[in-house]
Amino acid sequence: LQTKLPKVGTTIFTVMSQLAAEHGAVNLGQGFPDFDAPARLVDALAKAMRDGHNQYAPMSGIPALREAIAAKTERCYGYRPDVDAEITVTSGGSEAIFDAVHAVVRPGEEVIVLDPCYDCYEPAIELAGGVAVHVPLDPQTFAPDWDLIRRAITPKTRMLMINSPHNPSGATLGADDIAQLTALLRGTDILLLSDEVYEHIVFDGARHESVLRYPELRERAFVISSFGKTYHCTGWKVGYCVAPPALSAEFRKVHQYNTFCTFAPAQYAFAEMIRDEPEHYLELGAFYQPMRDRFQEQLLTTRFKPLPVPGGYFQLVDYSAVSDLDDAEFCRWLAVEHGVAAIPLSPFYGTPPKGQRLVRLCFAKSEATRDAAIERLRKL
Ligand code: GLN
Repeated sequence: LQTKLPKVGTTIFTVMSQLAAEHGAVNLGQGFPDFDAPARLVDALAKAMRDGHNQYAPMSGIPALREAIAAKTERCYGYRPDVDAEITVTSGGSEAIFDAVHAVVRPGEEVIVLDPCYDCYEPAIELAGGVAVHVPLDPQTFAPDWDLIRRAITPKTRMLMINSPHNPSGATLGADDIAQLTALLRGTDILLLSDEVYEHIVFDGARHESVLRYPELRERAFVISSFGKTYHCTGWKVGYCVAPPALSAEFRKVHQYNTFCTFAPAQYAFAEMIRDEPEHYLELGAFYQPMRDRFQEQLLTTRFKPLPVPGGYFQLVDYSAVSDLDDAEFCRWLAVEHGVAAIPLSPFYGTPPKGQRLVRLCFAKSEATRDAAIERLRKL
């Protein structure tokens, strides 16, 4: 069989979750909360199903949810996207990334990705016939080097993909990055895909620098978010894309033939939750910050060295004081022999840097889960 994605195997998240299950490891690998979604949201979902909202939703999403997203976006970023023309509800952030790439990338065109980057970016680009051009982020801070990115631009560059808060590092883009990004794209026709699925998990009083705040950027951008991260329900697979009308129209051409529409009952539940309980998303950073702080304090009692986490729910740790194995071998050993599942960073790179001794731990876990993991890590 001539395969289309010869380099791709099973995702590292699935591999590590399976390994965790087989070996009874505490799972800090795959990024998902191990606590419940808000009861109100679950009740609203059940009610939507009982009320008979069980058939196809409108292709772009139910009006009440698009309205709630528009109001939330205006409240958070001072910009109200057009409810009919600029918002499309998708079956998760990954579907939105796939649709955006397929909507605009033509065979042979280049898409700049910043390594390490989330593992679904490159396969989406390749399936569209495009070429992923990998530019490294700073190996310590995971900040973009805008000059390096500028040098990667060619006449074939169709799109740049950015991600803040960043998976796997938790790094965030600041106002200065936004200024440099704006200058970089000015006068080009390069499109922007901004993966902002962790938009509401930002710490230490910082504000999330959404591309939607900036007219010059948003006029060329697909901005993608995910309710799974915001509402502790990654298994519901609901996200959305905000893009200008012309880009949304192309996006919807792919979406309508990919999934057609998104699970209708959940759309009713999110519409109600976003509209009636804005505190949930407004206070999500404050909800996670004590978990981050406690987890970092606990890690300081181990030989794993925690890196700073400005946003998201992942903690990178340097394990060089514990082992000299490469990150993939280290994660296998850690799960099998020591009962803690982590995620190696190498799958997030086009070419993994040699000698990097970092793994990713998810701290969106109950106190009991985090404590159990730390107890095991302390023995190393
Ligand atoms: N986004 C999740 C993570 O980074 C994984 C989702 C998945 O397993 N595909 O851990």
